Amino acid sequence: MSTPTDHVTTSDPAARSAERTAGGGARTTAGATTAAEATADRSAPTRQVLNQAPPLQPTNYAANDAALLEGLRREGGGWGEPQLLEIGALAGTVEAREHGERAERNEPQLVPYDRYGHRVDQVELDPSWHWMLREGVERGLTGLPWRDSRTGGHVVRAAMMTQWGNVNGGVLCPISMTYAVVPALRDGSPELAAEWEPRLTAPSIEHGAIAGMAMTERQGGSDVRANITTATPVGGGEYEIWGHKWFCSYPPCDVFLVLAQVEGAGISCFLVERGPGMEFQRLKDKLGSRSLPSSEVEFRGIRGRLVGQEGKGVKAIIRMVNHTRLDCMIGSATSIRRGTVEAIHHARHRGAFGALLVDQPAMTNVLADLALESEAATAVALRIARSYDDGDDAFRRFATAVLKYYVCKRAAPHANEALECLGGNGFVEDSGLPLLYRDAPLMSIWEGSGNVAALDVLRAMATEPAGLPAFLAECDLASGANPRFDAHMELVRRQTGELLAGGADALAQGQYLARRIVEDLAVALQASLLLRHAPDAVADGFCAARLGDGGGRAYGTLPVGVDVRAIVDRALPA
Ligand SMILES: Cc1cc2nc3c(=O)[nH]c(=O)nc-3n(C[C@H](O)[C@H](O)[C@H](O)COP(=O)(O)OP(=O)(O)OC[C@H]3O[C@@H](n4cnc5c(N)ncnc54)[C@H](O)[C@@H]3O)c2cc1C
Repeated sequence: MSTPTDHVTTSDPAARSAERTAGGGARTTAGATTAAEATADRSAPTRQVLNQAPPLQPTNYAANDAALLEGLRREGGGWGEPQLLEIGALAGTVEAREHGERAERNEPQLVPYDRYGHRVDQVELDPSWHWMLREGVERGLTGLPWRDSRTGGHVVRAAMMTQWGNVNGGVLCPISMTYAVVPALRDGSPELAAEWEPRLTAPSIEHGAIAGMAMTERQGGSDVRANITTATPVGGGEYEIWGHKWFCSYPPCDVFLVLAQVEGAGISCFLVERGPGMEFQRLKDKLGSRSLPSSEVEFRGIRGRLVGQEGKGVKAIIRMVNHTRLDCMIGSATSIRRGTVEAIHHARHRGAFGALLVDQPAMTNVLADLALESEAATAVALRIARSYDDGDDAFRRFATAVLKYYVCKRAAPHANEALECLGGNGFVEDSGLPLLYRDAPLMSIWEGSGNVAALDVLRAMATEPAGLPAFLAECDLASGANPRFDAHMELVRRQTGELLAGGADALAQGQYLARRIVEDLAVALQASLLLRHAPDAVADGFCAARLGDGGGRAYGTLPVGVDVRAIVDRALPA
């Protein structure tokens, strides 16, 4: 039986939040109590809510995350702690959660024409989407490292991104693209950078600008050299662009970097301002990130300006891609952390067979394993973000390629296991875990799908000879700290050494083993960082589970001797 107020809802998260604060959640009215009281005794047992976890929000995701806070300070971003805690608290409000859910539910709609038949190419977005984008931009997620001269800006931003990803994954796309386009413009066209950078980095929606990217065509996304979109010089430094992109970012962007073929020169990169001649055909009907309008677009003679040189489009756009790859890693680390938190929180409140789940040994093993993955992902994301502050190019490029592959690959199975920790509740939308699960594979597809990312590491070994030694030198900083780690480093050196000694032929054959080689490199860096900086329980547990033959295949197969209780308690203080 429901009271009249059960049916009164408002769809605006801010209003609902205010309602709760004002006591609007009390659901009794004078007229309804008599009947309710009459049936209270009989219905009481069936209406009791027992053994369900309380809501996780409100919480401060950052304040609960020791690995994140320690990493922030260690990697040079300590000055950003107040900002991090502030965005962590906002992301953990009930209001933020409801905005994220609402934007996902009320999907964007493409409005190609107005009522008279004129092309308008607009997208209708839920107000919650605008809230999420505005709050993210105003907190500096798009521009902070480019505007703040303090060292550590990329680390601070990376840490803050891990917070905003808790609200909604889709909104990170335009945020990431806008952040990433800046270095591409700086390198490829200082004039365009001078013109656009003030707006792209502004912490303001009204005075700022949002950027996107259009590379992928029907016939191929990884192999952009197969692009058939054309750009023809028309004088005044401008080119006329005709063609089609099978995937293009968020249509309301102000500017896009676009790849197109210039006759006689080859694939080239252009800055295109949205306007007539850029016609959005449809929005993608996606597995996840449904709050985000990803589009298909046709270029019908729109003008673009060159970024970099004619025929050097891949080189020009790769500066942007490297930064978005960093964000893919950060996004996956966020997903892995969120799954860990949700799983531990649930297990601390749910009992089965006479004990809380968190105390059931098989579950403690699962939770600790999920937590190890999270701490390792957080540590590498922040360490690699620091290399963007340091200008440590050799390490930065190589480590980004290796860990983009690996951290993103780990996210989907992690989300699966975290969801299962909630049992049937985890399979139900209310829990938020289905959304985490649907979003989890995306970062591994974006900006170099698994194989392409792994092959990119082999390519870097051949063409950028300083990368691998810089990477191994960083790993070696933990040498002698753990016998498993030392043995693993020997294996990594032998594998990569044999590959390089064999020259071009061996590297070509190495494609078959690319994923294995990159996995071994990735866990080497993760183990090295944990051995140097994490508590013994975490570092030793990671080495026991991920190096050599100690661990099993699914999560929850940690070997005997790992201090699982300490790992779980560190991941989420009780
Ligand atoms: C939600 C979403 C948003 C997107 N947004 C954008 C955007 O804003 N701008 C944009 O330009 N693109 C965007 N993309 C496209 C995305 O970047 C591409 O889908 C991705 O780069 C892969 O390209 P593809 O789909 O053509 O796959 P393909 O290139 O056909 O690859 C298919 C598979 O083959 C593998 N493969 C490819 N080459 C090799 C090889 N040599 N050896 C072994 N395996 C190989 C790949 O790893 C992949 O698993 C978006 C995609 C999604 C899902």
